[in-house]
Amino acid sequence: MRKLRAAGFEAYWAGGCVRDQLLGRTPKDYDVATNALPEQIRNLFGHRRTLALGAAFGVITVKGPKGTGMIEVATFRKDDVYSDGRHPDRVTFSSAEEDARRRDFTINGLFYDPLEARVIDFVGGQEDLEKRRIRAIGDPRERIAEDKLRMLRAVRFTAAFDFTLDSGTSAAIRELAPEIHAVSPERIAMEMRRILTEPGHIRAVELLLETGLAAEILPEIVPQTPDEQKRFEINCGILHRMQNPGFPLAFAALLHGLVPAEQVKAIGRRWRLSNEEIERSAWLAAHHAALCDPANMKWSQLQPYLISDGVADLLALMEATSPESATAVAYCREKLRLPPNQLNPPPLITGDDLLQLGIPQGPIYRELLEDIRRKQLDQILHSRKETLHYVKKESRHKERMRHQELKHLYGSLYDQVAAVLFTSDPIGINFEHNTDEYEPETSTILPQLPDCRSEEDVQRLLHREFVKWFDEEIAGPPEIYVQPAKLIWDLWRKETKGTEFL
Ligand code: ATP
Ligand code: MG
Repeated sequence: MRKLRAAGFEAYWAGGCVRDQLLGRTPKDYDVATNALPEQIRNLFGHRRTLALGAAFGVITVKGPKGTGMIEVATFRKDDVYSDGRHPDRVTFSSAEEDARRRDFTINGLFYDPLEARVIDFVGGQEDLEKRRIRAIGDPRERIAEDKLRMLRAVRFTAAFDFTLDSGTSAAIRELAPEIHAVSPERIAMEMRRILTEPGHIRAVELLLETGLAAEILPEIVPQTPDEQKRFEINCGILHRMQNPGFPLAFAALLHGLVPAEQVKAIGRRWRLSNEEIERSAWLAAHHAALCDPANMKWSQLQPYLISDGVADLLALMEATSPESATAVAYCREKLRLPPNQLNPPPLITGDDLLQLGIPQGPIYRELLEDIRRKQLDQILHSRKETLHYVKKESRHKERMRHQELKHLYGSLYDQVAAVLFTSDPIGINFEHNTDEYEPETSTILPQLPDCRSEEDVQRLLHREFVKWFDEEIAGPPEIYVQPAKLIWDLWRKETKGTEFL
């Protein structure tokens, strides 16, 4: 500031930071407005300390002194026509007064001269600050028609400061609410993130409804029936009881019981929320009641909730939803204090172990590992050794179940093929007379027969499968499969009566 003034320029703190100072709040960021042109600003502070990303709009970002962060230094400007309902087509550099008049609301149109400790007010912002009122600068209809985002900003500021919305401004918003779609979904979402998470969020939601903005951007919350009205009021109560909710939590609370989880996702996509935000809010919607009786849940059911990233949000939602859930929440919080290796013990075995056991890779891996995890948590399996033993038994059992299905599917063909393999015993080991022991081959071979076009194909198939089941040495050379291949091929031809070739 001093640097600009020493160089003979006019320079003031501008907009939000002046407003916040006067309200006794800490500004989120500091903006400077000056009559210096972008090039002059850059020359004064040096190119190394400045960024010219917004130079086209006359905004230069200056790295402030240590610890002060970035300061946006903007040349006084006046905005041209807004033909897209959101951005000015062009800006022209102008005077401090015109720069104040292009701003949205009177309380955002103030300048402050720190050297003379004086507020410069061209737009009546000080009076509105005193009267605690959000009022558009100039003709509200015109100002909102220029930039439809101002409708959401008006709601946000009114609610966050607990001000009133000037009647002219509010009438203009009601009239122009259907045009909010000129604002990109991403930008709408940015406002909604702040609206739902900052103080005054309940008032903000009410204002969205009153102004007709909710009907445009979030019709799902607009009550159509007395029941929905009640639900909406309940949700406002839930929101009200939350302390500093993150956005996904506040969003889930607002939609609580109004729309199913799938629709929460759809709204999230409509607003182009991040995947994380969408997943979290939909997860909360889907599981809000999952932990209502945690003391009666199996540990394998409760534990995954407790170790999930969303657990704090889930408990906060439960707490805010009903006083009755206090015991359940306390129970969960107690469990969360367990030492990490009890709360979330390392797995007993991994997919590598399954591979080592020779279990063919596939969806079964996930099934087995999930099953084992549950049994571990529920103290049915305790050690690695015990688990490996369990897996062996379990995979054999699963294999047998598959045989039963195949037998059912292939009828007598199954037994006939099995008999060929048994009696011709191509690899010369005496299979035990327990059919299950050599059935693995039958059940892997049968489903592949439709792909065979000749005896030779069957021969190759048999060789391939035997190598897989035993090993190269035991399985022997392909020639030894000629005889069984011929028999199986004939059985298959007879079974399908050649229809496979039609
Ligand atoms: P906060 O930073 O708390 O969101 P703010 O008022 O500082 O509030 P910014 O987006 O940082 O908002 O903008 C800084 C200033 O730029 C505003 O105070 C206002 O004077 C002006 N401004 C911002 N957005 C608009 C807009 N859409 N139309 C007109 N003026 C705007
Ligand atoms: Mg700001």
